[in-house]
Amino acid sequence: MQQSFTIPMTRRDFMKLAGLTAAGAMLGGGAETPKAMAVAPPAPEVDFSETALPVLFDVDVCVVGGGSAGTAAAISAARKGAKTVLVERGISLGGLQTQGCVFPCMPTFADGSDTPYITDLNKRMEAQGTGPMLGFETDTYYGGGRAQYVPEFLSLVYDEMCEEAGVEILYNASLVGAVTADGKIAECVVQTIEGLAKIRARVFIDGTGDALLARFAGIPAEKGSEKNGRNQAMSLRFEMGGIDVGKVYRFFTKELKDDWTRGMFAKVLEDALKQGKPPFLEFAKWKKNEAFFQRGVERGTLKQDDIVYIQAFTIPGKTDTMSMNCPQMPPLEFSATDAVSQSKAVSFGRRMMRRLAAFFAGNIPGFEKSYISREASMVGVRESWRIRGKYYMEAADYFKARKFPDAVCRTAYPIDIHDVDLDLGEKLKKGQYYEIPYRALVTNELSNLIVAGRCISASFAAQASVRIQPTCMSMGEAAGIAAAWGMAHGVEANAVRWENIPKSERSYVSEG
Ligand SMILES: Cc1cc2nc3c(=O)[nH]c(=O)nc-3n(C[C@H](O)[C@H](O)[C@H](O)COP(=O)(O)OP(=O)(O)OC[C@H]3O[C@@H](n4cnc5c(N)ncnc54)[C@H](O)[C@@H]3O)c2cc1C
Repeated sequence: MQQSFTIPMTRRDFMKLAGLTAAGAMLGGGAETPKAMAVAPPAPEVDFSETALPVLFDVDVCVVGGGSAGTAAAISAARKGAKTVLVERGISLGGLQTQGCVFPCMPTFADGSDTPYITDLNKRMEAQGTGPMLGFETDTYYGGGRAQYVPEFLSLVYDEMCEEAGVEILYNASLVGAVTADGKIAECVVQTIEGLAKIRARVFIDGTGDALLARFAGIPAEKGSEKNGRNQAMSLRFEMGGIDVGKVYRFFTKELKDDWTRGMFAKVLEDALKQGKPPFLEFAKWKKNEAFFQRGVERGTLKQDDIVYIQAFTIPGKTDTMSMNCPQMPPLEFSATDAVSQSKAVSFGRRMMRRLAAFFAGNIPGFEKSYISREASMVGVRESWRIRGKYYMEAADYFKARKFPDAVCRTAYPIDIHDVDLDLGEKLKKGQYYEIPYRALVTNELSNLIVAGRCISASFAAQASVRIQPTCMSMGEAAGIAAAWGMAHGVEANAVRWENIPKSERSYVSEG
């Protein structure tokens, strides 16, 4: 939700933040040396080099993490002829898109950003009956992306695309280590249902979202904000069924006089409702309806934390269901890069979810018969660890709308940080966009590693723009193409010059 960059701070939060800042200053951080706050210690690792383990796969390309980026990478590499394995700890591809219930795919606000993989995926999703909902094609949601990746359909389509391309998927397998030699990753180690095993590959692509493969292989990483070390807020998303969407729309627009929905979608929504078609409806807590949600707190149904961020979207193909982009667990209490804290955030979020669902059912007309129909099976981590690669993306790349000869995609999605107040500057104007260079996906240290998705080489603020699904997919697509092209032409992955790949073989060509 790009309208809301900030959360209000309570006195309790302010005191905590003050404490954190003071602790940071004692550690040598603080305003003078802001980057120090984001430096992440290396991942604890075990030396598996001499450990005899079964070799499950010996392939050209091994992609670890089957999220939006990793899946795109694996499919794209295989389509270019590389023998590819995709390792995923869950049992569905898509990562946050599917397991995290993250919906909808945000627009890039940059025309021409859809790369061939996205166009192909969108066609396949539309064939499932999950094309864009009426009302999503508005001026507010312009640019590329914007497709509606309904989780259950998407995981099926991803399986089919992998099968067609010849990608071998290894589900239920968690990366636990990497063996490096001569400036390369030689093998990665995975925990499977049978026990530990090794995978050998000529090129490795890290699509874990947490840069875990890169960190196991010794690549320097950062986490959280350079100013205070804190990660973006996490959410635990869920879906509710049994909703009368028309009633919900009328309540927000007519009773609450909330023009959020009306301003964006009034005409299409009214038409869709008249035709009995499922419209695109979004409601959110914002200044015009704040009092309504605040009353829930005053009555004791909700807690203040619950209403910091509330947002809901209808889903195509699920006519009585809404996807909840909440609850958002307080970023001052929980960290996405602390194993124990992240775990506590899940239980905390689950309680928030139950309170929100009860409040909606009891207070929003249209929700009377609603129920929780799906709970995310993956924590909604917006940002965790990010590599330090050959190129380091910064907020200035966004604000200056920078272009690069080795650009792999374009976006104008704003710097969308879910945390306490930050001075984020002006958004790009319509028609402006910036690009992501291939060099932000590769490192100086390891020649056969490519990183794609939300953990590329970027500052905290830059990551807050590149992290959306279409951009992650385009990065993954480029990673797969570069891996296969480099191998076919005897060029190491970190030495591939994207701009030297023939235009017809590139997924994106900069016009910059
Ligand atoms: C709450 C929330 C709301 C958001 N809202 C939107 C939105 O409305 N629209 C939008 O476009 N974007 C949104 N985003 C951002 C976007 O969804 C993500 O940034 C993007 O999907 C990340 O894709 P990824 O492939 O980089 O990582 P992920 O989706 O995190 O995928 C990583 C994959 O790696 C796997 N993995 C991790 N560790 C291991 C391991 N050790 N071994 C094996 N596999 C592993 C995971 O299971 C997962 O499948 C949101 C994000 C969050 C958290």
